[in-house]
Amino acid sequence: MSEDRRRRVQRLKKLIIFTLIVFLILPLVLCGFLFYKVFSLEKQLDRMEQLLQTKIETQKVEMAKAYTLPAEEPEEEEEEKPAEPDVGRKVYLTFDDGPSANTNAILDVLAQYNVKATFFVTATNADAYGDCYKRIVEEGHSIGIHSYSHIYQEIYSSLENYQADFNRLQEFLKEKTGQDVKICRFPGGSSNTVSRVPMNEIIDWVTEEGFVYYDWNVSGGDADNSYVSAQKIYESTIQGVSEHTNVHVLLHDSGNKTSTVEALPLIIEEILNMEDTALLPITEVSTPIQHSVITKEY
Ligand code: ZN
Repeated sequence: MSEDRRRRVQRLKKLIIFTLIVFLILPLVLCGFLFYKVFSLEKQLDRMEQLLQTKIETQKVEMAKAYTLPAEEPEEEEEEKPAEPDVGRKVYLTFDDGPSANTNAILDVLAQYNVKATFFVTATNADAYGDCYKRIVEEGHSIGIHSYSHIYQEIYSSLENYQADFNRLQEFLKEKTGQDVKICRFPGGSSNTVSRVPMNEIIDWVTEEGFVYYDWNVSGGDADNSYVSAQKIYESTIQGVSEHTNVHVLLHDSGNKTSTVEALPLIIEEILNMEDTALLPITEVSTPIQHSVITKEY
C-alpha cells in the first residue's frame, strides 16, 4: 500500500468518525436537551395549575363570605320586652275567671289609680261581656289564658282536651284583642289535685308552646263560694303582700264577688303607700311564682 493511499484511507476514516459523531451524538444531545425542556415545562405547568387552583379556592371562599355575611350578621332582635322598675317589692294583682259583671268596675278602679293589673280570662261569659277583653288590653293591662270553658272535669280529663281548650281560648283572644297571649294560669293552679293528667305533662306542653305559667303566693281569699267581706279580702291581701317581695296576688273577677271590687281601692291605696314598691302587670319578663317548682321563697 502506498503512503498516499494510506493517508486517504486515514482521512476517510476520520471523516466517517466525524460524520458519525455529528449525526449520532448531536441528535442525542439535542434530544436530551429537549427532554429536559419538556420536563421542566411540565413542572412549570403543574405549579401554575396549583396556583390557579389555590386562587380559585380563595375566590370561592371570599365569594361565599360575601354572600353569607349579611345573613350571618347578628341581627339585633330588639324585642320590645318591657323592662320592670328596679324596686324592692313588686306586686302583681291578678284577676281570674273574668270577664264578668264586675270587670268594668274593676277596670274603673284600676284606671282611677292608674294601676295596671293582669286578667287570666275564660270565655264562659263572652256573650255578655265580650267587649271587656279589648278594654283590658287597651287600658294597658295584661291578659292571660286561664281556660275557655273552665270546666275542670273536661279540661283535665286528658292532655288532648286540655290542649283543645287552651288553643281555643288562645285563638279566641287573638281574634278579640289582636294579641298573641304568652302568659297563662292553670285553673286551680299548677299544684291542683283535680287533673287526671299529670300536671308536669301539661306544664311541659305549655312551655313548649312558648308560654310562661303564673301561680300565686298571696290570695285575697275570695275564691270560696261563700261570701267573704271586703275587709277580710283587704286584710288577707295586705298581710300577704307584706311577707313577700315578688308578690302575685290571686283575686277573682266573677259576677258574685262584689266584695272584691269593694276591697280593691283599699288594697291599691295601701300598696301605693308602701315604700320601694310597685304595682305592675305581669309580662313575660316578670319572675313567676310556680307552685310546682317551689325552690325559692320571695
Ligand atoms: Zn279559675
